[in-house]
Amino acid sequence: MGEMVDTVTTGIPASWGKRGTAAATFAARVQFKNICHSYGDVPTLKDVSFDLNPGEIVCLLGPSGCGKSTLLRIAAGLERQTSGRIFMNNQEIAGPDNFLAPEKRGIGLVFQDFALFPHKSILENVTFGLTSLGKSQSIVAAKAALKRVGMSQYEHVYPYVLSGGEQQRVALARAIAPRPLVLLMDEPFSGLDQRLRDNVRDETLAVLKETSACSLLVTHDPQEAMRMADRIILMREGCLVQVGSPKELYTNPVDIEAARFFCDFNELEGVVEAGHIKTAVGTVNTPELATGTNMNILVRPQGITISTTDEGLDGRIGNVRFLGECSLIDIHLANLDNPVQARIPGEIVEKQGDMIKILVDPAQIFAFPRKDN
Ligand code: ADP
Ligand code: MG
Repeated sequence: MGEMVDTVTTGIPASWGKRGTAAATFAARVQFKNICHSYGDVPTLKDVSFDLNPGEIVCLLGPSGCGKSTLLRIAAGLERQTSGRIFMNNQEIAGPDNFLAPEKRGIGLVFQDFALFPHKSILENVTFGLTSLGKSQSIVAAKAALKRVGMSQYEHVYPYVLSGGEQQRVALARAIAPRPLVLLMDEPFSGLDQRLRDNVRDETLAVLKETSACSLLVTHDPQEAMRMADRIILMREGCLVQVGSPKELYTNPVDIEAARFFCDFNELEGVVEAGHIKTAVGTVNTPELATGTNMNILVRPQGITISTTDEGLDGRIGNVRFLGECSLIDIHLANLDNPVQARIPGEIVEKQGDMIKILVDPAQIFAFPRKDN
């Protein structure tokens, strides 16, 4: 039994349907303009503006409580903003004078807990939102969607007999069957165990791309956002912090918290002197900053490697932990009280106590002015 086994009932490997067979929808553009929201006196969203482009997959990423679900619920029409407007293909769907009912928005929803109707069969769950098609057409559309997610053989069973991964596939089929303009997904993979998650995520991504709907996907997991998104919207405390491609956010974080959100760092301190900072891991150029500015220096553990030549900074190996894919190595450097940590692929031959030379990739060093300057 391989990776694809995904059933508690039969043990039959249930693979997804043929790629490229999900029904396509019309391309839509959704615009969020100055969205504010509060629960009572407590603000949850503060002047949030962004666009979803046709066919684009955008991840709303941020820590728990930052307002992601609230924004998604506002887009769906399940919650109303305090102020601001939402447009879909230039038509206002939510604003001070307009409010289009959720079922009229052309939106497909997928939630973390799948939210299937327990007393309806799988087929009935998927035909539920298709009443406007008429009975026979709705069954055709539902069967096609179930086929695409590889769940045709379970049409007549009830949700409780399915595993979490299978229920989430049915929830996806239900969301795409009406050919929505926009798919809204709130932490859709959090309820799945790690072994299943990668498969469900990759196949879901393929389905989303095929439908050409634009998708807004909420997650608190930066790896998931990197893997799924064309664009990531990083949120913090109800505000948009940074919007960009996964690569832009990873390689060019706007501030220290944005950097820390994606990765563990070695954190050092330093002071700007004549356009650069001298640190224990090398010199960082900061031509635009004034001499005397106090800085936080962040160094990615994967940016530190052991030199195979005489070049590099002197170091002494401390603790070594082998994690399989990589080793985490503490390295003691001159002029630094605490060791820096390096993440090196595979296993290393060096032992604790060995003297080595290290190289640090300048692209993996980030410098931010300290808040207390
Ligand atoms: P996220 O999805 O990013 O975890 P939410 O949008 O669910 O965040 O919540 C944003 C903030 O609003 C949180 O501080 C949360 O406690 C609060 N909140 C969420 N739902 C309600 C509610 N129904 N009533 C009052 N406060 C709420
Ligand atoms: Mg949430």
